[in-house]
Amino acid sequence: MENLSHKTNQAEQDEKKISFGDATVHELKTLLTAIIVSAELLAEEFQSDQKSLAARLTQNIIRNARSLDEKLAHFSEMAELLAGDFSFQPEPLEVEPVIRGVTAQLYPITRSKKQSLTVELPASLPPVKAQRQYLEQILLNLLTNASKFTPEGGRITVRASKEDNSLVIEVTDNGIGIPADKHKLIFQPYYQVNGGKGSGLGLAITKFLVELHGGKIWLKSAPGQGSSFFFSLPLMNHT
Ligand code: ADP
Repeated sequence: MENLSHKTNQAEQDEKKISFGDATVHELKTLLTAIIVSAELLAEEFQSDQKSLAARLTQNIIRNARSLDEKLAHFSEMAELLAGDFSFQPEPLEVEPVIRGVTAQLYPITRSKKQSLTVELPASLPPVKAQRQYLEQILLNLLTNASKFTPEGGRITVRASKEDNSLVIEVTDNGIGIPADKHKLIFQPYYQVNGGKGSGLGLAITKFLVELHGGKIWLKSAPGQGSSFFFSLPLMNHT
């Protein structure tokens, strides 16, 4: 009896901790969004003189605020996954609208780095068995990295094709690339090839979510030759 009431208290405390964490992250992200939007508006004021000190400091604010925003999102996602506090309800899903939605979301970031962001899809693609919100998260993480690790003016392309019983989605960039001996390590939590401003959690979360669907994630990359990340998702008709 004592044990049971202890467990109940513990569960209640855990729940309080989780909802306190969620509320805090939500509060911080709301304030951060206001900072980012204000700084972006301010940056527009300096369009004509982008080399001025004020323009460069504003870009600094935007860059750091976006980086903090990404870290917050990753920390809370990782905390949820580690706590087992998520539900998985895959359903038939058309990937094209999801890809178009996520690329549109990323567009302000690629535009600010003068990068092209292209989607190349065949005329039709079979539906996959997946949870929309997780596919969005996977794509957002891979595209954010593609933009982050590609210099100004670079190219990012998203492709998808049917292969046997799965759909393979590819995010390719012509950025800095990754040495072969780091290809496995980058999927470990907190690992970053050259340190950096990110959380080091994005690819660990991405891999977890791909594998949750029964898919695989892999990459082709070499320093100076860009990176291509691929992941597979099961087709609806083959599960
Ligand atoms: P973060 O991006 O927050 O550092 P990730 O887990 O998403 O963490 O990525 C881990 C590391 O893998 C990055 O720090 C970077 O060194 C490397 N990486 C990931 N994506 C790319 C990419 N598209 N091009 C070059 N390096 C990358």
